Amino acid sequence: AGERLYLGMDFGTSGARYALIDKQGTIHSEGKREYPVLMNEEKMDWVRSWRAALFSLLEDIPIHLCPLVASISIDGTSATTLIVDSNTGEPLWRPFLYNESCPDALPTVKSVAPANHTVCSGSSTLCKLVSWWNIEGSNKKSALLLHQADWLLWLLHGKLGVSDYNNALKVGYDPASDSYPSWLRSQPYSQLLPSVIAPGTSIGNLKEEIRTQFVFSSAISLVLPLHLVSFFNLANFKTAFDDLQNTSLQVTSLGSTLAIKLLSTTRIDDARFGVYSHRLDDKWLVGGASNTGGAVLKQFFTDDQLLKLSEQINPMEASPLDYYPLKAVGERFPVADPNLVPRLHPRPESDVEYLHGILESIARIEAKAYNLLKDLGATQVEEVFTAGGGAKNEKWTKIRERVLGLPVSRAMQTEAAYGAALLALKGAPHDSY
Ligand code: ADP
Repeated sequence: AGERLYLGMDFGTSGARYALIDKQGTIHSEGKREYPVLMNEEKMDWVRSWRAALFSLLEDIPIHLCPLVASISIDGTSATTLIVDSNTGEPLWRPFLYNESCPDALPTVKSVAPANHTVCSGSSTLCKLVSWWNIEGSNKKSALLLHQADWLLWLLHGKLGVSDYNNALKVGYDPASDSYPSWLRSQPYSQLLPSVIAPGTSIGNLKEEIRTQFVFSSAISLVLPLHLVSFFNLANFKTAFDDLQNTSLQVTSLGSTLAIKLLSTTRIDDARFGVYSHRLDDKWLVGGASNTGGAVLKQFFTDDQLLKLSEQINPMEASPLDYYPLKAVGERFPVADPNLVPRLHPRPESDVEYLHGILESIARIEAKAYNLLKDLGATQVEEVFTAGGGAKNEKWTKIRERVLGLPVSRAMQTEAAYGAALLALKGAPHDSY
């Protein structure tokens, strides 16, 4: 038997990507496809477009590598929802996209769910389901709810009605008790809910016709995605394989906004601070997203200026400037305060000093966030991995190391498709790696 390879696919907001890795995590092939513009009655036909992108990506895999693929995992955008025919798998309705809101369903959902539950937001999967339930007269008996990733995987394995507990969180699934709560089960539309198993579990083999079409080998398992692959893969490759008991993982994403996640044995959900948890095996990925971040820097400096000014900063020296850099009024995490006012004054004459003050202030917010999670009982952090546009700035990394009192390393891989491939490896039958 030759080397085995593991295929991950990511269906993001702007296009789909794949990554094919070996068991050491080395990429053997990767690629991207835009979603083809396919119209149906003057509207984008997302279902046909996703399906086309999936099969285009499979065609893009170099043909000599196809027979080596041992497992496949696919992730999609969170809360992108399809209502399909439970016999044929064909969509009964156009898909509800991740960022679509169904405020019409909110009163109904709020009347059945506990206060401040994740489903009590117009864009939750449950609001999408209830909205469909209220408008659609027929077809209710043979309807089934699937998330985008569930449906794409179904195209490959053919078993209808399986999802994972990360994707099912926003439809109301309780990952702690591993069940749909009774308030949800007692609703008439609960008959549409898919069965739920752990992310990273193998759910079956590739359909025969697809196997022969793409010269894949005989037993390819399809692995359920982990919704948070983009965070999962940020940690270096080893993290995915150490059993999670001994793994430490904490990631700051410094893109337009600042988001942090850490792997914890304790689950923490606290709306006062914008903190929530996703389940990851027997642990929790705890964190939140702040409104501070690179978008504020962009207001004042071009990327080129950021490079040049940063060179002149001495990161070992603490800046005395104390800001709260936000683009607009309002913060979500580490404090949820819709009225928090940005503080970016006084502005010194020197742009170097100003930038230093802003970078230092964002680092203080990051430190506050990690300290908050610690105070709420999350597992202690020993090292921070980082990704996003801000992670390229070595001076900022040094400032952050000083302010956090922790080593900060840049993540090696930041593509979600790579994370999906790690999941495929994790979930592949044991004798194949
Ligand atoms: P997004 O979250 O939009 O995907 P990226 O991860 O691509 O964002 O990061 C873009 C952000 O990185 C921009 O807001 C920009 O201001 C910031 N950025 C770019 N270069 C630097 C730099 N050298 N130092 C700090 N921040 C930077």
